[in-house]
Amino acid sequence: MGNLRALVSVLGFTGSIGANTLDVIARHPDRFEVYALAAHSSVDAMLAQCLAFAPRYAVMMDEAAATQLRQRLPADAVTEVKQGDSGLAEVVTAPQVDVVMAAIVGAAGLPSTLAAARAGKTLLLANKESLVMGGHLLMQAVRESGARLLPIDSEHNAIFQCMPVDEHGIPVGRGVDKVLLTASGGPFRRWSLEQMFAATPDQACAHPNWAMGRKISVDSASLMNKGLEFIEACWIFDLAPERVDIVVHPQSIIHSMVQYLDGSVLAQMGNPDMRTAIAYGLGWPERLVSGVAPLDLVAAARLDFEAPDESRFPCLRLARESVAAGGTAMVVCNAANEVAVAAFLDQQIRFTEIPIVIERTLEQMDNVEPISLSVIESADGQSRQVAAGLLVDMQRSAGKAKQV
Ligand code: NDP
Ligand code: MG
Repeated sequence: MGNLRALVSVLGFTGSIGANTLDVIARHPDRFEVYALAAHSSVDAMLAQCLAFAPRYAVMMDEAAATQLRQRLPADAVTEVKQGDSGLAEVVTAPQVDVVMAAIVGAAGLPSTLAAARAGKTLLLANKESLVMGGHLLMQAVRESGARLLPIDSEHNAIFQCMPVDEHGIPVGRGVDKVLLTASGGPFRRWSLEQMFAATPDQACAHPNWAMGRKISVDSASLMNKGLEFIEACWIFDLAPERVDIVVHPQSIIHSMVQYLDGSVLAQMGNPDMRTAIAYGLGWPERLVSGVAPLDLVAAARLDFEAPDESRFPCLRLARESVAAGGTAMVVCNAANEVAVAAFLDQQIRFTEIPIVIERTLEQMDNVEPISLSVIESADGQSRQVAAGLLVDMQRSAGKAKQV
């Protein structure tokens, strides 16, 4: 009898989305088999999961980590270790692979996400940065190869669940008026700019509703996450920016909504646990057990809504302006944000300086057509250099201010 289980490659499996994906997969050993696991350099976690899931391949981006893993795997292990970009590309495009979970964080996820789309895989897309950077290329690849893109970001997964789809699972906007993208507002929803100026990385990462990796947690605190998701929604659902509204909903029970021309609004609700979206992606069009507790609406008691405040959260404005500018502005916005967030997590800059770095980088960079992966990667690299230069200038002036 042939192998009826879907073969899955999980990219970024050591992260928050990756761990939740393995949790859901482990509940359905009859339906899924892990083909490959990929991470950057976390050898201990890779070793543990290779023993638990016995994948055919383990990919470490870092060379030293790959060597260490080879030494530490038992001699009779079924797993073969691969390394770097070529190793990653192989486990994404291998003909046997059915499903690719794209859960690498940041711009580093773009080449593998694009490769999965070009290879016609079922692409479970968590890595929102790849859509922000290469939305046009990625959506074109999905159309041309017949890949199936299933959004994992909870908001887009919710919209997908509330949106009519054709027989191939492609969302069709029939009768849709608007998409209502919900935002929790993050840990600083009620904070003043002065309080945010003094915010520490741990405070920014203490999200009230979701447990996530540190980069996306800072993005949630600055609302850049919602800005990136705004761009993501435009690409996935083929919507003009004016058809996506952002609504702050602090309880994170409604994960987003679709408003129809007849006045109906469909919402997808649930506890804030990424395993719902992951199980939906893995099982589509069926529903799978995910391990998520049932929603207790009586305990939740209320659902609140408010408008986002762009004066305290300028990252949202910068993301919207980047969409309006088109071209590589979104690549620049994303790259500058990654540099600024890393600097904030490293305590080199203040939380409130994140949007300053992004805005100045956007001012300094040319806007060109993102016609190929190399154009996008070049804009990404140049933006990182500009942003890094700005950080040096900012630190110099902060140093001078201290001396005065
Ligand atoms: P984490 O920071 O928790 O995990 C990141 C993963 O990416 C790790 O496995 C890490 O490996 C790997 N990684 C980092 N750099 C590279 C690289 N250069 N090449 C290959 N792998 C790399 O991130 P999250 O799980 O929070 O987020 C992953 C993606 O999903 C992000 O794009 C995020 O925006 C998106 N997302 C996350 C949500 C969440 O709930 N966390 C919700 C919605 C979207 P290693 O451990 O070896 O460093
Ligand atoms: Mg989200």
